[in-house]
Amino acid sequence: MVERPDAADPERGRSPEPEQLEWRLASAHEGRPVRIVLTGAAGFLGSHLAARLLADGHDVVGVDNLITGTRDNVAILQESDGFTFREHDVSTPLFLSGDVDAVLHFASAASPIDYLEFPIQTLKVGSLGTHNMLGLAKEKGARFLLASTSEVYGDPEIHPQDEGYWGNVNPVGPRGVYDEAKRFAEAMAMAYHRVHGIPVRIARIFNTYGPRMRPGDGRVVSNFVIQALRGEPLSLYGDGDQTRSFCYVDDLIEGLVRLLGCGYPGPVNLGNPDEFTVRELAEAVLDITGSSSPVEHGPLPEDDPKVRRPDIRLAGELLRWRPTVGLREGLERVVPYFREQVERKNARARSLV
Ligand code: UDP
Repeated sequence: MVERPDAADPERGRSPEPEQLEWRLASAHEGRPVRIVLTGAAGFLGSHLAARLLADGHDVVGVDNLITGTRDNVAILQESDGFTFREHDVSTPLFLSGDVDAVLHFASAASPIDYLEFPIQTLKVGSLGTHNMLGLAKEKGARFLLASTSEVYGDPEIHPQDEGYWGNVNPVGPRGVYDEAKRFAEAMAMAYHRVHGIPVRIARIFNTYGPRMRPGDGRVVSNFVIQALRGEPLSLYGDGDQTRSFCYVDDLIEGLVRLLGCGYPGPVNLGNPDEFTVRELAEAVLDITGSSSPVEHGPLPEDDPKVRRPDIRLAGELLRWRPTVGLREGLERVVPYFREQVERKNARARSLV
């Protein structure tokens, strides 16, 4: 049973957890910064997490094969001395010299249109890639953090979803490549924990949004905001009654850093429990952008989950963490980023004529 701190007070968790402190002291004792290998560093979450770890004074080796990550994200990170980049597909082994304190496996196509375009790569990076990165952690005596997903719950039959729920996944449907890869990854991580004693952390990440999302990644927040800014119809799939719970990226990164520092080996949900229908999201986007775009209904993608909402009591207890940015505030923060992306694209198009 974990100690029950006051989960209602987000500030209480700002000081490091005891084990996190020991971890930092161990490397400080050896006279070097903590060194972290982060796969998927050129992606949306990977690049935010890398930036945070660098700001915390750690060294980060970013690894990415750039099929969905971007060189722009790498370039931002390369402004920090503590960052080095390896262009590599972790479905094949990665050899690194020197000490490694933690391996964080974030490499994967993660948006439905991406894993539909790269189904085999998605399966490989979740299975072979996880195996390789666990092997690296074992070799280096490092701890391991897996970026898992709410998709392990599939189209859930219980609501909200807690970590004890085993899920309702169609293994052979189009989303199965992502869902099953992550389920395999969790099983493999737990096997390495049980057999080799690797300290394993598993983050089940729910829908997250923020700056550095790829404008064309097909996710609902990026699609709606960009469509609203361009005055194009908002593409609402199905009747719009399906729900999601959207977490602002800074909140998620705080949760991940705390999870990395804690001593709990099982899966932990990280996400914002405020639940909205997709139609409500469309309305909020129109309101915040001041757009008069119409809403246009399209077909619901196959196996699209009808509801999704994290039960985050475990994260509250273990990490003294809960999200602090509500949907409206988060959208207000992210709209300027998408506006800049739209303007950049317009400027490029103008320069070509
Ligand atoms: N969706 C939508 N319009 C879009 C993109 C997505 O209505 O342009 C819906 C999608 O069908 C799903 C929800 O929004 O019900 C969230 O989709 P997203 O791809 O962002 O993430 P998911 O949670 O499905 O992985």
